[in-house]
Amino acid sequence: MSGILVVEEARRDGSGRIFQETLAAGRKLASLTGLALESAAVGEPGKNIFLQISGPPPAAGHAIRHPLLETYTADGYVLAFEQLIRKLEPDYVLFPHSYQVRDFVPRLAAKFGQVLVGDVTAIEDGPLFERQLFQGRMNATYRREGKGPCFISIQNGAFRADSANGGAMPIAEFIPEIEPEQIRTKPGEPFRESAQTVDLGSAQRIVSVGRGIKDAANMPLIEVLAGALNAELAASRPICDNGWLPMERQVGSSGQTVAPKLYLAVGISGAIQHLVGMKGSQCIVAINKDPDAPIFEVADYGIVGDLFEVVPALTEAVKAAKQ
Ligand SMILES: Cc1cc2nc3c(=O)[nH]c(=O)nc-3n(C[C@H](O)[C@H](O)[C@H](O)COP(=O)(O)OP(=O)(O)OC[C@H]3O[C@@H](n4cnc5c(N)ncnc54)[C@H](O)[C@@H]3O)c2cc1C
Repeated sequence: MSGILVVEEARRDGSGRIFQETLAAGRKLASLTGLALESAAVGEPGKNIFLQISGPPPAAGHAIRHPLLETYTADGYVLAFEQLIRKLEPDYVLFPHSYQVRDFVPRLAAKFGQVLVGDVTAIEDGPLFERQLFQGRMNATYRREGKGPCFISIQNGAFRADSANGGAMPIAEFIPEIEPEQIRTKPGEPFRESAQTVDLGSAQRIVSVGRGIKDAANMPLIEVLAGALNAELAASRPICDNGWLPMERQVGSSGQTVAPKLYLAVGISGAIQHLVGMKGSQCIVAINKDPDAPIFEVADYGIVGDLFEVVPALTEAVKAAKQ
């Protein structure tokens, strides 16, 4: 095979959204290079992999089966994918940028003398792979050099999954050679996202707060603004990591994806992991004291200023407008 291999992660939640997005990235790469697209996954077709393909299906699917792969281990997955990739010889291997992929793919890439180009947000003519550095302050582009396979992982939310139901593809079974003594770790319970009781996804207005708020004691400032706007409260990850708001109010690649009519970002820098969770909002307003903050690149309205001055003034203006 000279082409593109898109890897699906076996599904526990049934959604498969990140696989469909990675497939969309694979199709973009195929259209730029003219290469054929195939897919691979560990598991049983129709049970936990290849359940549904949205958009035009890949030319073929490879189902990797082995009793030692029933639970995930980095050793097992590296051995299995190394053997499949040596057999198929793809030019590009695309993965979703998941926790599992971050765990085993750097080692897999090293087996081929390659690196993983992680967190790719765009693919352009060349083909060039774009990713952000230094919290979105710089973009870096990468391209494949030499003959080995090029390993890429695709940022959650960076490509739009095709919504059309795509139909079936021919599936071949691949049985790798793995011995029990080659697996050096014993897997524990898989990580599960906590159940979400707040559905930010259907909120019409969201006031979202970031590290610019500085201290938990300042949170009431934001709560009063959200109250005046009749908006849901949300936050960037550091706020939830600090326990200033519950985890379920985190927006971004490891939080919720939202698309309200109004998204007001207060003291949020606009790191890519945050942007992918809110860039679909209809109107984005950002308050930040740094005129170069990346959030302003996606904002419809930007207020460069100190939130401790701007937020109280805005709250008063909203209250006055409602009277
Ligand atoms: C695997 C992974 C997953 C992640 N998932 C997420 C995720 O789901 N969601 C998420 O948000 N992040 C996520 N992150 C973290 C992300 O990379 C950023 O670190 C985070 O979004 C930064 O949050 P912030 O913008 O609040 O803080 P900072 O980047 O520290 O920005 C604070 C901003 O406040 C501004 N500011 C400071 N003081 C004031 C003031 N007085 N007035 C006005 N503005 C002020 C500053 O100029 C700055 O722009 C993830 C990271 C990784 C590695």
